[in-house]
Amino acid sequence: MKCSQGGKFSKGELQRFGNIELNPSAGVLNYGQGLFEGLKAYRKEDGNILLFRPEENALRMRQGAERMCMPAPTVDQFVEAVKETVLANKRWVPPPGKGSLYIRPLLMGSGAVLGLAPAPEYSFLIYVSPVGNYFKEGVAPINLIVEHELHRATPGGTGGVKTIGNYAAVLKAQSAAKAKGYSDVLYLDCVHKKYLEEVSSCNIFVVKGNVISTPAIKGTILPGITRKSIIDVARSQGFQVEERFVPVDELLDADEVFCTGTAVVVSPVGSITYKGKRVSYGVDGFGAVAQQLYSVLTRLQMGLIDDKMNWTVELS
Ligand code: PMP
Repeated sequence: MKCSQGGKFSKGELQRFGNIELNPSAGVLNYGQGLFEGLKAYRKEDGNILLFRPEENALRMRQGAERMCMPAPTVDQFVEAVKETVLANKRWVPPPGKGSLYIRPLLMGSGAVLGLAPAPEYSFLIYVSPVGNYFKEGVAPINLIVEHELHRATPGGTGGVKTIGNYAAVLKAQSAAKAKGYSDVLYLDCVHKKYLEEVSSCNIFVVKGNVISTPAIKGTILPGITRKSIIDVARSQGFQVEERFVPVDELLDADEVFCTGTAVVVSPVGSITYKGKRVSYGVDGFGAVAQQLYSVLTRLQMGLIDDKMNWTVELS
């Protein structure tokens, strides 16, 4: 789909996957006008396919587009385009229990612009790929390191939207962490340097007794759709969920820590290293709370339990 600045997107068409052409002075290449989304399609036992809350991705893209001075597809256009793309790639949706089809919608300033300004033209496209587990650990606990020098977001910046540059900003710390054997990086706020923010591509939760705490949405972390869903699932399971400033020190006496995201689903954290000190959680890192929430969420996403929340969209 294409659209001019200030205009509306017209209906797009299916195209075979391949390279795309861009003007060297395209807004996305020069000034980072790019946003993406990520969602998954699961195959049910009866062969039908389930999408999980695609309208939430559409809304988040629209909010991000507003911040990045870009036009965005309407919620209907977005959801219809996702459905059409998934149905056209139905054969790539893995069988039940064997993974999912990852769906990547991309919005970019494709028009040429030399002086700093919003691009005159925008493109929206979607590509898909079958995927398995995100971390090489599979569903085993991951090991995080707290980063206290580099930050991924600043107040008033773009950390709260899914813009491409945020991901370039985390590559250095993430690569260094992986080279040392960690799974990923846990970021702190850049003002007080003591409150938890999020991991490079997922949100974080800290469990103490019956209370589950997660950093509040305040513009510097991504409002994860899995985060929002897990908060509802956890409350429905009788947990008390607090969205607030979570000091890094709370990691020291937490019962469990886990991450959430479309790609990582619910990943238990086995250990966190902070200023050279390593804290480990639970028996081999597998916490009962993360297990319980993982089980409810995945069974819902795969159509194995009743979708009382009305979160899934079924395609046949
Ligand atoms: N934080 C960041 C920085 C992310 O990239 C993601 C993945 N989209 C998340 C959190 C989790 O968001 P969601 O649950 O919507 O996938």
